[in-house]
Amino acid sequence: MDAMIAPGADGAAQPVDAANRRIEGAGTPDAAWQAWGGLADLPAVSAATLAPPGRCAIIIAPHPDDEVLACGGLLQLLHAQGTRTLLVAVTDGDASHPGSTLLPPAQLARTRALESQAALRMLGIGDGPSAPRVLRAHLPDGQVSTHLEQLQALLIQLLRPDDVVFVTWRQDGHPDHEACGLAATLAARVCRATLVEMPVWSWHWAAPGDKRLPWQRARRLDLGDDMVQRKRQAVDCFQTQLHGDLSNGQAAVLAPHVLARLLHPYEIYFI
Ligand SMILES: [Zn+2]
Repeated sequence: MDAMIAPGADGAAQPVDAANRRIEGAGTPDAAWQAWGGLADLPAVSAATLAPPGRCAIIIAPHPDDEVLACGGLLQLLHAQGTRTLLVAVTDGDASHPGSTLLPPAQLARTRALESQAALRMLGIGDGPSAPRVLRAHLPDGQVSTHLEQLQALLIQLLRPDDVVFVTWRQDGHPDHEACGLAATLAARVCRATLVEMPVWSWHWAAPGDKRLPWQRARRLDLGDDMVQRKRQAVDCFQTQLHGDLSNGQAAVLAPHVLARLLHPYEIYFI
């Protein structure tokens, strides 16, 4: 897809050029982000500020793993403060291995849902009364943008005023991430819910200080060493994404250089 649709300042849809947010090659090395220091200098925010106690958190994951990669630290903090959490799993992630005979789509859908469950348990939040509820929307992986109205309608049914919606940033670079961000933005506006966006693939195509990122909205949520460690162990549950596929010659989606950018001792949120 060459162009995405994002809401304009007046709420009307307008085309936004997505050609400069391509996820190609190895992307910006984590060392470049680390050397910059700009992320660590962003204003800090607490989980209680992002999702004040008593309010519900709705986490919208385009694919099974985004909930951990984007906000595995926040999920632990929300659980600790007793926040009710709903995870909306938008797709089953069944298009991650095109043409694979080892992991065909139906098997990927089953396995990736189980990987997500295991990852939530590894974060220490998978069981008990305050474990996140999970709603699987089963939208087609890679085609969320053609089901935008369906996703928006689902979210409008779910959201209540004062809920806090956490979703991949509407200009994150991956078409599904952008479509989820856009649907959630529009639904949150209708329902008067609070929107918080999360960069995931942005760390790949953007560069330190990149003017395309909304730095004025960016906040840094600090994570303790134990929380980063649990997040790392949770990522290890996504085995289908961690290894190359011999049957189609594809490299691992979550290669070490990708994970390095996503396992900092903080998470970044656009408020
Ligand atoms: Zn994703």
